[in-house]
Amino acid sequence: MNSIVVKFGGTSLADVAQIRKAAAIVQSNPERRYVVVSAPGKRDSTDVKVTDLLYQCYSIAARGDDFSGPLSEIHARFSEIARGLQVSLDLEAEFDSIRRRLTMSPDQDYVASRGEYLNARIIAAYLGFDFVPPEETIFFTDNGKLDEDRTFRVMGEKLAALPHAVIPGFYGVMPIGVIRTFSRGGSDITGSIVARAVNAHIYENWTDVSGMLSADPRIVNNPKVIRRITYTELRELSYMGASVLHEDAIFPVRTVGIPINIRNTNCPEDPGTLIASTDGTEGRVVTGIAGRKGFSAIVVEKSMMNAEVGFGARLLQIFAEHGVPFEHCPTGIDMLSVVVSRDLFNSSRDEILQNIQEELTPDAVSIHGGLAMIAVVGQGMASSRGTAMRIFKALAEAEINIRMIDQGPSELNIIVGVNEADYENAVRVIYAETESLM
Ligand code: ADP
Ligand code: ASP
Ligand code: MG
Repeated sequence: MNSIVVKFGGTSLADVAQIRKAAAIVQSNPERRYVVVSAPGKRDSTDVKVTDLLYQCYSIAARGDDFSGPLSEIHARFSEIARGLQVSLDLEAEFDSIRRRLTMSPDQDYVASRGEYLNARIIAAYLGFDFVPPEETIFFTDNGKLDEDRTFRVMGEKLAALPHAVIPGFYGVMPIGVIRTFSRGGSDITGSIVARAVNAHIYENWTDVSGMLSADPRIVNNPKVIRRITYTELRELSYMGASVLHEDAIFPVRTVGIPINIRNTNCPEDPGTLIASTDGTEGRVVTGIAGRKGFSAIVVEKSMMNAEVGFGARLLQIFAEHGVPFEHCPTGIDMLSVVVSRDLFNSSRDEILQNIQEELTPDAVSIHGGLAMIAVVGQGMASSRGTAMRIFKALAEAEINIRMIDQGPSELNIIVGVNEADYENAVRVIYAETESLM
């Protein structure tokens, strides 16, 4: 039988009514056999996610202070959910052991994982499905990387024996037996791992929007829904800030070609976005726009730099030695600039600058902070002309200063750097200019 893996995000499981919607979606198609769940998210814009409350408990406990406030809030939310769904689960015992851990040996990843764990226990009981713990099926290596071979094999064997199952998202286990979480939003990765392990014919990711939008809906009014997108384009957009799907979630499924379908729990009849290896949309030039704030450019100048063998490599290595990956690296003849995350750079700023002075003896080094990067992404740009010019012209007409330009080698993206203060406006200007190409 075909199997579909479904993952529901936090807003799709925020309360009893939302969980009922999710359950109805699962029950409406017998192929939807494996369900990955997030912790309960926000019920409205003023609410707090359970995961955020758990992180609060951890930081209070780590200081040795009283965490009972946020912990009782979490307890109350789960009690309300269990009661509303008429599920009997010994929540008292569960919260006793969380409280004990917080008091005796607070561990951030363990505490953060309890939102997914408890939600999965309740939803498994409600659906009458087996509960499969990531403690026994998702493995990290000593250096914190996913142990793919072991995970796909063990998870695959476990699920092959079960007609249906619910699996908590967001975490797995280290070789020494302690829990480790993915980065925030990581339940998307768990969904992808499960899809790969059972060789699903589709991975459905259910959220609160009707698919990947061609721009951030909090900035652009009513952006177009992207019906189809390639894994590569999606990765570019999510890496650059389109937060609908975790940027690493495509890796487990891409190599084996399992498509991801982003769907809306509140509008299940909408087809959503299909992410696959081909986009199937002839003629589209631009697929979407995404961006982020929080970058700095470090510009290094030295005359005859172009003749100095290994200069660029050495410069990038200095950043690497301090654990700062570079995002972009636009160059001039006697000038090289390295665009990095501002926070990462600032954490070793003095050491990096000192190393650059000592090892590269530059004529000048300057730091340009407050940079936002915007990516315009589209496989179609490689075979069409004039898109970059239109974008630059529109920004100039809106009197937005472009501080940096970069284009990927495959012509899949055009990246512009602007001042953070201009970010939202620049996204709107670029969207208005390129909407007709989408
Ligand atoms: P979930 O809790 O289901 O995992 P997320 O909050 O992680 O949901 O992701 C969905 C949210 O991503 C949307 O509500 C939307 O505000 C935001 N978002 C940002 N950029 C985009 C985009 N390009 N397309 C769709 N949603 C986006
Ligand atoms: N609950 C986790 C978070 O808020 C993981 C997820 O929702 O994907 O980041
Ligand atoms: Mg998410």
